[in-house]
Formats: sequence, C-alpha cells, structure tokens
Amino acid sequence: MTRLIRTIASVLFLAAVFTASAAAQGGNAPAITPAAASANAAVVQPFDVKAAVDAYLAKIPPEQRARSDAYFEGGYWLILWDFLATVVVMWLLLQFRWSARMRDLAERITRFRPLQTILYSVQLIVLASLLTFPLTVYEGYFREHKYGLSNQTFGPWMRDQAVMLAVSLVLGASLMMALFGVVRRLAKSWWVWGAVVAIMFSAFADLIAPVYIFPLFNTYSELQDRRVKDPILSMARANGIPASDVYVYDASRQSKRVGANVSGFAGTMRISLTDNLLNRCTLPEIEATMGHEMGHYVMNHQYKGLVFEGVLIFIGFAFLNWGLNACLARWGQNWGVRGITDVAVVPLAVLILSFYTFVLTPVENTITRTMEYEADIFGLNASQQADGEAEIDLKLGEYRKLDPGPLEEFIFFDHPSGRTRITAAMRWKAEHLQPAQGQLVRGRP
Ligand SMILES: [Zn+2]
Repeated sequence: MTRLIRTIASVLFLAAVFTASAAAQGGNAPAITPAAASANAAVVQPFDVKAAVDAYLAKIPPEQRARSDAYFEGGYWLILWDFLATVVVMWLLLQFRWSARMRDLAERITRFRPLQTILYSVQLIVLASLLTFPLTVYEGYFREHKYGLSNQTFGPWMRDQAVMLAVSLVLGASLMMALFGVVRRLAKSWWVWGAVVAIMFSAFADLIAPVYIFPLFNTYSELQDRRVKDPILSMARANGIPASDVYVYDASRQSKRVGANVSGFAGTMRISLTDNLLNRCTLPEIEATMGHEMGHYVMNHQYKGLVFEGVLIFIGFAFLNWGLNACLARWGQNWGVRGITDVAVVPLAVLILSFYTFVLTPVENTITRTMEYEADIFGLNASQQADGEAEIDLKLGEYRKLDPGPLEEFIFFDHPSGRTRITAAMRWKAEHLQPAQGQLVRGRP
C-alpha cells in the first residue's frame, strides 16, 4: 500500500517536473524560414517570453511582493499547525476518556444505535470546534485582517462560523451514521464499503453544495451586465457549454479576493464569478478567467477530481483500518474504546486520517495544480486574452506567492504560481503574434 502511494507520488512528481521544464523551455518563438522572414520583415520581432514574464512580475512593488509572500508562506506553517492541533485535540479526547464519556452519555439517552451515533457526533463536533477555535479565529479572522484581505467585521464572521458548524453537524452526523452502519455489519471488509460510502457522500455533498450550502453564505444572482455577459455567453456557446450557466455572487461580503469557480455536479454544475472580479477587473481579465473556468467544465475536472479523490479515499481507508486495529490493540483499553464498532473510536480515526492527508499534501496539491494548469491552457485558447490572463495572475498574486522555487511549488501550491501561469500566457502570446507568417509557411507548395 505504501508502495502504491509512493508510485502515485512519483508519477505525479515526474509529471510536475516535465510540466515545469516544458514551461521553462517554452521560451522563444520558433525559428522562421528565410522566405517567411523576408516576407514578414515588419513583424519579425522576436518576442522574448522570459523578459515579458519578468516585466509583468516587476509591476508588483517589492513591499507588496514581500507582503503576499509572507502571507502565503504563513499558510505553509498553518498546514502543520492545523495538523498538530487536530492531533492534540483528538489525543486529549482519547487519553482523558472524554470520547468514552460522550459515548456513555449517548447510550444513556437512547438505546437506538443510529441515534446514539448522531448524539455522539454532535457532541464531538461541537467540542472539537470549541477546542480548535483559537486557531480558527487566528487563521480565518485576525490573519486575514492583518494582510488586508478581509471585508468582514467580527459579528458577520462569527455568524458564518455558526452556519458552518450547523452544516458540519448535519453532514458529519449523517456520514458517521452511514459509516457505522457499514462497520457494524461488515467488521472485516468494512473499510472497502466504508470507502464507497465516503466517496458517494463526497459526490452527494458536491451535488447539493451549490443549491443548498453556498447560498447560506452568499447571494447568487445571474450576471446582468450585457457588456460582460455577452462575450462570456459567446465564449460558452463556442465551447459547447449551456449558455445560462453564469452566476455572480457577493464574495465581497467576506473578502477582497478576486476569483471564480466551477461548482456542483451533474445537474447542479455551474460557473460562478465573484463580484470582486466583476468590479476590479477589465473585460479581457474577466474573459481570461471565465475561459479558465470553462476549461474545468469542458474537461470534466469535477468528475476527474472525484475519481482521484476516490482513489485517495480508498487507500486512506485501508490505512485507517490498519491504523485503528494497531492502535486499539495497544491503547484501546486505556481509552475506554471497545473496538472499531464503538463510536468512541472516532477521534482515533480522525487522528489517523489527518496524518494521512497531512503526508499526502503534495500529492493532493499536484492533482489540483495539474488540472488548474490544464484549465489555464484551455482558457488561453478559448479567450485569446494572454495579457488579460497575465494581469489576473498578478491580482491573484495578492494572496498567492508569485515566484516560488520548483520544489516549493510542487509541495505547497494547489494552483500554478504566478510565474508559471504568466509564462504559459506569454508563451501563447509569442506563438500568436505572427499569424501571417504561419499562413505563408503553410501556403508554400
Ligand atoms: Zn481553476
């Protein structure tokens, strides 16, 4: 199993290295035949891709660069702190038998097992949220304000947290109920069917999110401004996308970040852009962004993501099964946990799975980053807005490091860095500067 993880990681690593070197080499425009060159003397200005990329990156003043680098690098540490916080909290719940006590309370209240699972899950989620709250408030509120990325005062932020807690109570308790239903019937092969349940649950959450969850935090409306709407709808039609699928939401309620996304699944799939994007960006920038989002849509990244996620969940559950049995044999009695069919085991399961996802951070990032890069290439071809793309990449650089090292990008970046994306845009531009020359070469006998 570890070999499988390593194989996946190394395949992805090679893919990333290949992509990175392709991006680095994609530099100069191709050599021009003498005939073509003389016929097009006026347009044969070699376009230096690297110089164009450097010129774009140089538009951001050093102090602004230092600030966004610091913000993004702080995020690397947060991956570690979040992981350690989860480990400490879950360990406390086990070691001091709080988990066992929450189970006992649930058992005193009802004899109906699915209801016991729900009661236990509610206690666990509320307690764990309270214990990790200091980190949550630093990460989600104070840090965002410190870097000037948030538009939200504390009251509305807390309201969003309360709604998020309510959503995780409903989703968490239902997932637990389904999983323990499986565990209690299939003690040996539970992890196989448990993984299937988790994958189906994840697909279901993706399906309902745009309709039932996101509207709890933001207001979605159809894009009205025809000057923006018409070119987007035209690009959508050109790429075979149902033309009514463009929504705007008030992301400015929470933050200053520009952005757009594709969400949903099957019938609920939709492309949405933020009001920040609409208000802060030029039409070429919006077109480049929407071209990127359409790339996700056309290349079925939602479904591919679910397949990748499914593989990781499956391996994760095998690891979970092994980890649970090994730990329970050693410490189960100390913790008052009766076995894997006992809900009191959940903090241990969370601990094992958070270790798994922590270690897999580069793999998960590389899966998404690779799809994001594909969407960039699609977006360039669809929108033909290479400079718009480069400008938007600089705006995204307000909260994402623009020019990291290759290893840093491989480990920590779930989207390509500014340099990678602007390089792709300028490479595209270089190849589209001399259309007449291409016709001439092809036109020769
Ligand atoms: Zn994307």
